[in-house]
Amino acid sequence: MIDFHCHLDLYPDPDAAAAAAQQEQVAVLSVTTTPSAFAGTATLATERPMIRTALGLHPELAQQRGHELALFDQLVATTPFVGEIGLDGSPRFAQSRTAQVDVFAHILRSCADSGGRVLSIHSRGAVKPVLDALRAQPYAGTPVLHWFTGTVRQAEAAIEQGCWFSVGAPMLVTAKSRELVAMLPRDRVLTETDGPFATHKDRPVVPRDVADAIRLLAASWGTEISQAEDQIALNLKALLASHVGELSPAPEGQSLPGR
Ligand SMILES: [Zn+2]
Repeated sequence: MIDFHCHLDLYPDPDAAAAAAQQEQVAVLSVTTTPSAFAGTATLATERPMIRTALGLHPELAQQRGHELALFDQLVATTPFVGEIGLDGSPRFAQSRTAQVDVFAHILRSCADSGGRVLSIHSRGAVKPVLDALRAQPYAGTPVLHWFTGTVRQAEAAIEQGCWFSVGAPMLVTAKSRELVAMLPRDRVLTETDGPFATHKDRPVVPRDVADAIRLLAASWGTEISQAEDQIALNLKALLASHVGELSPAPEGQSLPGR
């Protein structure tokens, strides 16, 4: 199983959460919210090949942590995975809007200069500006929209722009969101938990709970659960194949396609 967006470092016991995922053979993209958290979080993946660590700067922290962009630029050469990044359009974060846009644009430029990365992107209430920013940096890499909550039209625009989607069980609960998930290209869908922020029966979700998302996706696709799981595994393989081996930074001032 694949949990393509999980905050292992934010569990009360991160090492236990990482050990359990490795033991249960759940492939985890361990996202971070600040560049300064990357090194410590990456130690959770030591000798745990199922876990990969992404370098992030969460939009909700763009204002306070914008000064960590220099560290982001130093670290981006060390990983093919970038996240959690993006924009948040909710009223709570309205006053940091300018900082968010600047930070996101900087990160995308940095990824493009490094040859492209796999990007785990937050777009709550901000699908349009996220797509605009991605369009401005076409070589930033492969965008994977995490927990997409936009409209059908916005999903169409995102698909048109080459976006992938990481889908969690909460996205498959309401009829409206199920309809949206059903329209996503099956070969661009991954599963996620967004643990520990989402809940599973009154406790924080853990990576193995992606089983719920897989079961619901299989129902949506009208396939067996094992077929849905195989499809998602194939998708991840394809995504990684287009990014592995492109880790060395591009020559000064040059941008290379990420895929
Ligand atoms: Zn998240």
